[in-house]
Amino acid sequence: MGAFRIGTIAGIEIRVHWSWFAIFLLLTWWLSEGFFQEVYGDWSATQAWVVSVVAVLLFFSSVLLHELSHSLVARRLGLPVRNITLFIFGGVSSLGSEPTSARQEFQVAIVGPLTSFALGIACAALAAIAYAFGEEDSPPAAVVEYLAFINLSVGVFNLLPGFPLDGGRVLRATLWARSGNMLNATRWASNAGTVISFGLIAAGVLSTLLGNFINGVWFIVIGWFLRNASESSYQQLLFRRTLGGRKVGEIVNRHFRSAPPDISLEQLVREYMLPLGQRCVPIVVADDLLGLVSMSDLRHIAQEEWGTTTVFRAMTPRERLHTVSSQDELTTALETMAAHDVHQLPVLDGRSFLGFVTRADVLRLIQVGRELSTAAPAEQPVSPRRSD
Ligand SMILES: [Zn+2]
Repeated sequence: MGAFRIGTIAGIEIRVHWSWFAIFLLLTWWLSEGFFQEVYGDWSATQAWVVSVVAVLLFFSSVLLHELSHSLVARRLGLPVRNITLFIFGGVSSLGSEPTSARQEFQVAIVGPLTSFALGIACAALAAIAYAFGEEDSPPAAVVEYLAFINLSVGVFNLLPGFPLDGGRVLRATLWARSGNMLNATRWASNAGTVISFGLIAAGVLSTLLGNFINGVWFIVIGWFLRNASESSYQQLLFRRTLGGRKVGEIVNRHFRSAPPDISLEQLVREYMLPLGQRCVPIVVADDLLGLVSMSDLRHIAQEEWGTTTVFRAMTPRERLHTVSSQDELTTALETMAAHDVHQLPVLDGRSFLGFVTRADVLRLIQVGRELSTAAPAEQPVSPRRSD
């Protein structure tokens, strides 16, 4: 969403999010006006702008290399890699699954900052050579000096021990290795992420008050982003953990009453929807789902015609419904519901209709999972008194 593909490196799709252009323009402008033209007084404005564009493009190439290192190590360890997306706060590697061991997590996480440090040191060495030859004011020297500084900064920032930053992942791997409990390790690392994010916001406010406006606002924005990311990544893990591997068939809701296709809409409303408080009625003949009548189907037909219209004519036919199989995973069902903005999906077993999987039932399952995970410190069985 909002991102498009710019190419593929080593079989990994590289995408750019629209917000990246905002940071590209902002950073180029700041580098040219606020940095190069100040530091290198004898450069022309055009020269400063050209050097800034080159410097920013190389900076984002460095970010890309940082992300590529995560992705390549992940792939080497057997984790599926989806893509890399560059966006306003840098880059993100999207993996198809969570690391399966603390060791794997550590290896995938640490390689990113190491790559940034290696790039920073290499650029610093190039800058030192330029100084040795008295070329420190030349544009190439200015660019490598900037790249040295920015890559070392990226390395240090990403090592902050708050999940989902790389340092937070290292922290999670360490806690995970000690306790053997990934969920608790994630919770602690996420909490550390929240603390760090408030620290960044506080530093940003202080910096703004001291007159360093751009840096201050940037710290506040990054802090805010990290705060949201640390919370949501724990939630997502909880979702996947609770639902992981569980099938739709386990929580089919069979309380929905189905109706035959030949009754009138009026009868359907009077006998099925109103007394049962049922907002949607499956139309079923001998276990075979023909379609569904929902509130929005009713709204399409004038109320005077309800007495003369059959359910069969008014229903949304089965071919146009989003359905799930009882063998599908619950996460798939939840994604389908979210993607089409519906609250329930008909569950089929082959052709026969079993019932519905509802968003409320799935969320209840997650809720129970969350309570169990806070009640049980080290994935030990919960004592009966604590469970609900
Ligand atoms: Zn990283």
